Amino acid sequence: MHFTMIRTSLTILLMTALFACTGATEKNQKPGQPSRIIFLIGDGMGLSAVSTGYYFGDLTSQFDRFKHIGLINTSSATHKITDSAASGTALATGTKTYNGAIGLDTARTVLRNITEVVSEMGWNTGVVATSAVTHATPAAFYAHVEHRNMEEQIAVQLLDSEIDFFAGGGKRFFNQRRDGLDLFRTAEEKGIIIDTTGLSSIAPEPGRKYGFVLAGVGMPTMLEGRGGFLPEATSLAIEALSAGDNNFFLMVEGSQIDWAGHDNDEAYLLAEMRDFENAVRVALDFAEKDGNTLVVVSADHETGGVTLAARPGEMGGSDYNDILITFSTGGHSATLIPVFAFGPGADHFTGIYQHTEIFHRMLQTAGLAEQIPGENTPD
Ligand code: MG
Ligand code: ZN
Repeated sequence: MHFTMIRTSLTILLMTALFACTGATEKNQKPGQPSRIIFLIGDGMGLSAVSTGYYFGDLTSQFDRFKHIGLINTSSATHKITDSAASGTALATGTKTYNGAIGLDTARTVLRNITEVVSEMGWNTGVVATSAVTHATPAAFYAHVEHRNMEEQIAVQLLDSEIDFFAGGGKRFFNQRRDGLDLFRTAEEKGIIIDTTGLSSIAPEPGRKYGFVLAGVGMPTMLEGRGGFLPEATSLAIEALSAGDNNFFLMVEGSQIDWAGHDNDEAYLLAEMRDFENAVRVALDFAEKDGNTLVVVSADHETGGVTLAARPGEMGGSDYNDILITFSTGGHSATLIPVFAFGPGADHFTGIYQHTEIFHRMLQTAGLAEQIPGENTPD
């Protein structure tokens, strides 16, 4: 922690004390400012992946429910085509960095992320993923390490972070570690309620922390029978984080949309997209009822160069009534990525802009622009 960070923390501490003195509740947002933010990231989800809901399955799409839509450029500080670590860091901290970085800038300086910023204002925070909870995307929302593959260190940082709810895979980074530590015991010593068997029905208590670590590394794929984990964990997270009528920030990742793209596997892609849409449905249903919740859905980059082209006809030519999902790469692509927003402040997310803007716009809409740390906005 360098000096400016200490100074920022002190300012925030003083401001928090000020709010307490004036008798303001946790909900210090003005009308039109969200007091809850749910950010859903479809890892590797480009516009073709989003479009699949309109051509496959029951032909309904949760994306119909959004009225405010934008586009982001996701290039990293070092590459036109980003990886999930650099783009996750950009989304979580508002700063572009090098491919592979988690929560650090190109000079290896620690960047404060959105969960750290809103925690200082009394908000609860959570991360849910279908990868390991220590994988690049969720890690960018609480950790600071030089490379995404340092998952044992990332697990230590998760338990030291302000995160109040986490769910996903990654047991081996907690209890099969090179240093021999059992981080599940460490977690329990810290008062975090850990479940490694399933999303137990908890009656969430305000101020309690919960961790669900349910697979060795990544969660099973939908085709292997993951079932309702992602929408159910989203629902449980909302319940736990809003306990005591608290403000909260929740990041939910459909991690395996990316893995399906890397595998060039259309059945896998369709199954992961439908599952992700079910999590989007849970978030939107809550936001509709709550009225103070901003829902933002986007991606860190596109994976697979997915195309919804016509299937080649038997007599030559193409059958324009039959869509064949095809891929142009086993890696990521540079296409602009859609942003969908719903709820108070949603109108801030239209236009074409850099992925770093999402961090800034989320905090601005919540009236927390002054809390954005100076080191996160290099000129
Ligand atoms: Mg990811
Ligand atoms: Zn990827």
